Amino acid sequence: METLLLQNTDKDIARAGEILRGGGLVAIPTETVYGLAANALDGAAVAKIFAAKGRPQDNPLIVHISHLDQWKSLVSEIPDRAMALAEAYWPGPLTIILPKSDVIPDEVSAGLDTVAVRFPSMRTTRKIIDAAGVPLAAPSANLSGSPSPTCARHTMDDMRGRIDAVLDGGECNFGVESTVVTLATEIPRLLRPGAVTPEELREVLGEIEIDDAVLGQLKEGVKAASPGMKYKHYSPKAEITILKGTLDEFVKYTELHSREGDTDKTFALCFDGEEEIIPLPCVTYGREEDSLTQSHRLFNALRELDEQGAEKVYARCPSADGVGMAVYNRLLRAAGFCVIDFHDE
Ligand code: AMP
Ligand code: MG
Repeated sequence: METLLLQNTDKDIARAGEILRGGGLVAIPTETVYGLAANALDGAAVAKIFAAKGRPQDNPLIVHISHLDQWKSLVSEIPDRAMALAEAYWPGPLTIILPKSDVIPDEVSAGLDTVAVRFPSMRTTRKIIDAAGVPLAAPSANLSGSPSPTCARHTMDDMRGRIDAVLDGGECNFGVESTVVTLATEIPRLLRPGAVTPEELREVLGEIEIDDAVLGQLKEGVKAASPGMKYKHYSPKAEITILKGTLDEFVKYTELHSREGDTDKTFALCFDGEEEIIPLPCVTYGREEDSLTQSHRLFNALRELDEQGAEKVYARCPSADGVGMAVYNRLLRAAGFCVIDFHDE
């Protein structure tokens, strides 16, 4: 299949709408990452998403809407606390899970009795949903397991020949996927951190729980509340180790290592300005105290490491506060949970 590259024009947005209405797949820009979209009400169209990505069948999809009114028909009911959350953070990078209605095909919910819904803030995304005339199911537009794409080129790298079209809407603003919160439990529970922080959720919801999968690895045999969080994810080809500690400790450790190892293929993933001090080729992902820039640049940096041929990567550990929780959560999965903590007893 030839994959069309569409531009951010009214004509091409209308074309994307036609393809989606006809049961095809179009990768679309959003303010978080590029999504691989299909008509959310058409089970056969949604099934093609799983095939194109190589996504495990038990991992449900997020449904994207362009008007608050569309939400009603997708869920069994909208409780007051859900509406309050939507009023506070929609349109925006927040996904809300509620019990689903009968219009949601099993392919979308992966057999669960809930559905995840998001109202994106990017105007182009909403125009594409309007052009399609239906809500769009869309996971991130990467091959399953690799870093999520944050620009049309990275989307094309993964999806060329597998889908009908990619619409180029420029670089994504946030660069990590949406915050996912479920309101299908008695106490709201954060399943995936994103640009809307736990503090911001607490402001509207009061108490929230943070799922064990957010900052750690689920123990063998524990059922994942968010199926996507159990997989190794976001990974470049290189093997990543997170070094938790100061820049000094990082330098000492990597100096020792580079004397032993093959430094050509050993890289550092570090903060801006540290390149001169670290004795390895470096790819940076923002200043140490700037979580928002780190979220914008992390997935790009992971792909850059692959492009430069990295085989082994030592990563500086980001702060896990606020938006940083999303950055740490993604890097931890990219590293397959491999962390050396210099301050561990
Ligand atoms: P992605 O589409 O790649 O952004 O991933 C969507 C994330 O939302 C995955 O981690 C899914 O497991 C999670 N998700 C989607 N729908 C549900 C649901 N109904 N219940 C729990 N998690 C969900
Ligand atoms: Mg994904």
